[in-house]
Amino acid sequence: MNAPVSARHLMSAAASRAVRPRGRLTVSQWADNHRKLSSKGSNEVGNWRTARNPILREIMDCLSLHSPVREITVMKSSQVGVTDGPFICSLGYYMEYAPCPVMVFMPTLEARDTWKVQKFNPLLTETPIIRNIMGGLRSRDAQHSKDVIEGPGFIIFLAGGNSPNSYAQKSAKVVEADDLDRFTDSVGESTRKVGDQKVRTSEGDPVELMRSRFKSFPNSYKFLKASTPTIKDASLIEREFNSGDGRRYHIECPSCGEFQVLKWSNVKANVQMTEAWYVCEHNGCIIHHQDKAKFLPEMGHGGTARWIPERPEITKHRSYHISALYAPIGLGPSWLDLMIHFKRVHKNPQQLMTFINSNLGECWEDRSAEKLKTNELQKRAGNYTHGEIPPGCLVLTMGVDTQDKWLAYKWLGWGAPLTDGGPMRHWIIKYGAILGDTTGYQVWDDLEAEIHLTMVNSYGKEMRLRAVGIDSRGHRGEQVKNFVMRPSLKVPVYAVQGSTTHMGRAIAQTGSYPNKGKTGKVIKHGYCTWNIGTEHCKDYLFGNLVADADRQQSEYVINFPQGLEVEYYDGLISEVYDPEKKRYIPRVGAKYKRNEPLDCFVYAWAIGQHRDINIGRGRSGRPDPRYWERLAVTLEGEYKVEKVEGAGEEKPRAIPAPMSDGKISLGNSKRFGR
Ligand SMILES: [Zn+2]
Repeated sequence: MNAPVSARHLMSAAASRAVRPRGRLTVSQWADNHRKLSSKGSNEVGNWRTARNPILREIMDCLSLHSPVREITVMKSSQVGVTDGPFICSLGYYMEYAPCPVMVFMPTLEARDTWKVQKFNPLLTETPIIRNIMGGLRSRDAQHSKDVIEGPGFIIFLAGGNSPNSYAQKSAKVVEADDLDRFTDSVGESTRKVGDQKVRTSEGDPVELMRSRFKSFPNSYKFLKASTPTIKDASLIEREFNSGDGRRYHIECPSCGEFQVLKWSNVKANVQMTEAWYVCEHNGCIIHHQDKAKFLPEMGHGGTARWIPERPEITKHRSYHISALYAPIGLGPSWLDLMIHFKRVHKNPQQLMTFINSNLGECWEDRSAEKLKTNELQKRAGNYTHGEIPPGCLVLTMGVDTQDKWLAYKWLGWGAPLTDGGPMRHWIIKYGAILGDTTGYQVWDDLEAEIHLTMVNSYGKEMRLRAVGIDSRGHRGEQVKNFVMRPSLKVPVYAVQGSTTHMGRAIAQTGSYPNKGKTGKVIKHGYCTWNIGTEHCKDYLFGNLVADADRQQSEYVINFPQGLEVEYYDGLISEVYDPEKKRYIPRVGAKYKRNEPLDCFVYAWAIGQHRDINIGRGRSGRPDPRYWERLAVTLEGEYKVEKVEGAGEEKPRAIPAPMSDGKISLGNSKRFGR
């Protein structure tokens, strides 16, 4: 592009705009007047007709210059024409009718390039009025440019959401983002408060970053976002939909005249799967697929259907939901197509999720998610306080998460299972942060002091940590290694890292990346890292948190103390399971950004199952009830003497803890309780 020339174009266009009489042309009128569809990007070729897909008209018209609506969110099924309609038509409108600076975001630079070739270039070359505008300029340059399209009075930036540079410096009046749920959920940098310090993190919300693009147009901007949703609570488009006015398309039943939103549960089919129909939710009337041409057109445009907002008090941000049930005949799947598709995939969670996202335009929700809510977990806080060891808690481990500017640590308590073969019980004992630059020594000295703390249980007995797992995958691998090898440590400390493969166990049997000597031989008791099956650990945590919802407090597997802050619980449930990716992914929302409470649990829980620690198990590796008996006698002995006859005669036996792989002095091993 050529800056001086384009500046001149901008100025002359501004001058011509000033004298041009301005009607109140809407985007849909502009498209009906001018837009041509190309075989490159559309099902149907020829003149654009908004009436062909009535559900798009209002969405398009919110983008019109005179509409008071500023933000438009579309949560949709795939292939419903939102890209061709609101996106491409409004770009034509803002190029020809109301020129201004525009930014279009796609999730990645690759997606942007594909979109440009398939969707945008046909507008430039096959809609005559646009072709004329572009032809007056160096059209070839414009066509070949991937990231900027310029013409009289307008400039369109085409950006990829995975490229932080795409967000910087540019200013636009119209910002449009397609496929929002495919955007990476953190771009650029931001600061966040941890304890009483501000910490710089590399997490930026793409929607907020886009929002900062139209700051110079506070009263005239347009912000369009659309996407097929993904997973409940992890979906950006769901979040945006919920912050808008929440519109759904109400159609009139051709038989009884009652208005309703088309719902998947009301679509029925015969056993042979040769016919599908819709059951009116008011009077059970049969609504036929062929009647779509009758009930889909909207009020004022030959029909009676209408968008109705759930939150009409929100006026500047309209959010729309579109499902494939509304696809006009010939422009998408029929109800029968959908039923056949559903029958094929409904038993497979991964395929079912895709069906729900792509065809119903709805989020996938794990059935357990309802029970994992911050306030629900907070209510479970037990009759012990933060930092206190309650009865039954006989072993302690710690998980440490490493950040650039701080360390998060968690003390996790372990106790005997309540039933034979049942899960061991756990108590969150203490959660905290050590602030300071983790390239320095001070935080690590502070961590060592924390690790060596002696706690006193409710029977007055001293307890110390049995083992510690420290995250070594962050930027501080070298510092973690130096710390783990400190000769002064009196507790087994292991470097751990989340495995990139799906391990079916909490922690690997052997260490990875061991230190080797000059001859290439592994150094015995040298440094290594231990892979952790994070998915396995999270399954265990979330599975038990869900199961605890139906248990008495005295039977909880995961116990919380009084006094944990709400941020702790938000962090603990900061991820949800994605059946498609087969792993846990972050929930959206600022309150879920801190996942250290979750990671620390994973490290503390996994390290208890390290082959040299093996909490609750005998030497064979099998669960050993005597393990707990011995500890209970040692740590809660007075209680046992009072309650259990004869128990006082049994002398507590101190079994030396096995040496760990690192050359770690275990100090007074009796204190570890084995
Ligand atoms: Zn009816």
